[in-house]
Amino acid sequence: LEVSLEKPRTEADYKKSIVEALVEVGRVSNTLKNVLDLAWSESPIGRPAPKNFRLDKLMIELVDITERLAESKKIKIVSEIAPNVPISGYRDKLAQAVLNILENAVKYTPADGVVTIRLEKELTRAVIGISDTGRGIPPDDLPRIFDRFYRSSNSLDAHGSGLGLAIAKSIIALHFGEITVKSEVGRGTTFVIVLPLD
Ligand code: ADP
Repeated sequence: LEVSLEKPRTEADYKKSIVEALVEVGRVSNTLKNVLDLAWSESPIGRPAPKNFRLDKLMIELVDITERLAESKKIKIVSEIAPNVPISGYRDKLAQAVLNILENAVKYTPADGVVTIRLEKELTRAVIGISDTGRGIPPDDLPRIFDRFYRSSNSLDAHGSGLGLAIAKSIIALHFGEITVKSEVGRGTTFVIVLPLD
């Protein structure tokens, strides 16, 4: 923007600068939102009491959002959501955590791939599985993908802050849950989230 203001320019040039600035502001605001979510999940100060809610209903909403995200890339969404899965916690925050993983599944899967979203109800726990047929994660990077700001060499062509999975892990831990990942380069990735039932 400083360079654009140095001398008079054509309307087209101004337009180009504004569009570029908008994209950049969008990215910064996304990263900021992520940083605030991470701070929220790590500080108990001012956090309200957890509430009971239906994870199956939340997952159906998230499947819907993922379908819309995947539409332009022609990625197929397959879903199997068990009914009546009550858990306790923070609905909006957990939604953000799971959405971060779903967004990655769409982002790192090429056109015509498949993203599978499952929710199973076991005796004492809910199990969410998110699988994609995307590029996969190199084995050496796998232990580090949940670190803040860590981005694997497989993601250099995609935009991101490297905070999405750190936030997901922190929010899931707050719900006494666990997240694990399995991946094979060139074949795909599966994330599994386990949460205690209420
Ligand atoms: P980013 O903003 O880079 O997506 P994340 O914290 O969400 O940050 O993910 C960290 C890194 O893990 C990504 O940069 C990417 O290298 C890798 N990754 C995450 N999910 C997937 C996936 N479904 N397929 C392939 N790589 C993934």
